[in-house]
Amino acid sequence: MNAMNFTEPEERVALRAAVAELGKKYGHEYYSKQARAGLKTEELWAEAGRLGYLGVNLPEEYGGGGAGIADLAAVLEELAAAGCPLLLMVVSPAICGTVISRFGTDEQKKRWLPGIADGSRRMVFAITEPDAGSNSHKITTTAKRDGGDWVLSGRKVYISGVDEADAVLVVGRTEDSKTGKLKPALFIVPTDAPGFEYKQIDMDIVSPEKQFGLFLDDVHLPADALVGEEDAAIAQLFAGLNPERIMGASFSLGIARYALAKGVAYANERKVWGAPIGTHQGLAHPLAEIKIELELAKLMTQKAASLYDSGDDFGAGESANMAKYAAAEVAIRAVDQAVQTHGGNGLASEYGLGTLVTAVRLGRIAPVSREMVLNFVGQHSLGLPRSY
Ligand SMILES: Cc1cc2nc3c(=O)[nH]c(=O)nc-3n(C[C@H](O)[C@H](O)[C@H](O)COP(=O)(O)OP(=O)(O)OC[C@H]3O[C@@H](n4cnc5c(N)ncnc54)[C@H](O)[C@@H]3O)c2cc1C
Repeated sequence: MNAMNFTEPEERVALRAAVAELGKKYGHEYYSKQARAGLKTEELWAEAGRLGYLGVNLPEEYGGGGAGIADLAAVLEELAAAGCPLLLMVVSPAICGTVISRFGTDEQKKRWLPGIADGSRRMVFAITEPDAGSNSHKITTTAKRDGGDWVLSGRKVYISGVDEADAVLVVGRTEDSKTGKLKPALFIVPTDAPGFEYKQIDMDIVSPEKQFGLFLDDVHLPADALVGEEDAAIAQLFAGLNPERIMGASFSLGIARYALAKGVAYANERKVWGAPIGTHQGLAHPLAEIKIELELAKLMTQKAASLYDSGDDFGAGESANMAKYAAAEVAIRAVDQAVQTHGGNGLASEYGLGTLVTAVRLGRIAPVSREMVLNFVGQHSLGLPRSY
């Protein structure tokens, strides 16, 4: 988006239209049928990869589209608006693809980026630990030197898509040789590495992507498993976390659009006392409010993406947090109101809304919880004392 020009460039408008067509071809019925049968959305993922949509943000020389996170966010939003919110887009091309493109060695880029870009390879992301939770300063997954190699041990929880990934980008810690203090570092861990185990966590979300607990027990890794500098990992981590929040916002925005469209269509069709139920302001006003909140959240998401793509990591941080917050809240409201507008039909499988009631709650919890965003805004945007 150009500065103070609230329209997207022509290429992105065209990208949105093309992706929306692809999303329509599959739709929410396909998505939820696959999820309910314990299957993935392989066909959609592969086609999106072949068409260049999954790697639109990655460098052209490694098979990507050479565009920015704003474009990848548009892809995810359009697919979600068609009823196919592909959660792994948040981790594989957005976090892992970004971190490797920006900080990986040439060898790492050659090995991983073309596959991530065309969707044939997937890398997922693991920071959350059972004991540290939202306090990622307290993570204890630790990498020790073994000659030139690394040995990684620890536990992670709620890691998405491990069963369909070739590798996991694990946030661990290494010991500073001078101070003995532990500092964050990022490692690429193949999912078939000896000592790496994962166990599915049963979730009440209707989604093709599953969640896992990870157990890393003295996993031996070569020297080049480390991504970027051992001493600059915090900056590198933040480079990946802003795209994660922007994509989290787009995931929610797309679902909000999907739910709102369904609510509006039904409010126009359904007649109970002779007139369409949308005639009643008790239904029309909440839908109108959601439209306003959705447009506001979308503007903030586009601002965050635009700042990130212009290289302003710091400026993008505040907007990305606010966008993630606003998009998650409007998505929860949109799904709830769409269900309410449908009356009993809102919870019938045929109407494709009940599947999203728990899915949409994810946006309030991950990748960073609503409360942690409010902590960030209180402290950094308002200058209030740190509360934790
Ligand atoms: C479906 C799903 C997919 C996920 N995918 C991934 C993934 O791929 N990779 C990954 O690394 N993680 C993933 N996560 C984990 C997610 O990022 C965490 O669940 C989230 O960051 C919250 O951490 P927690 O669950 O440990 O909650 P906790 O940190 O235990 O927090 C519990 C509650 O306390 C609140 N709270 C905690 N500290 C404070 C404070 N200081 N002030 C105010 N309130 C506070 C929180 O906001 C929350 O409401 C996923 C989670 C889910 C549910």
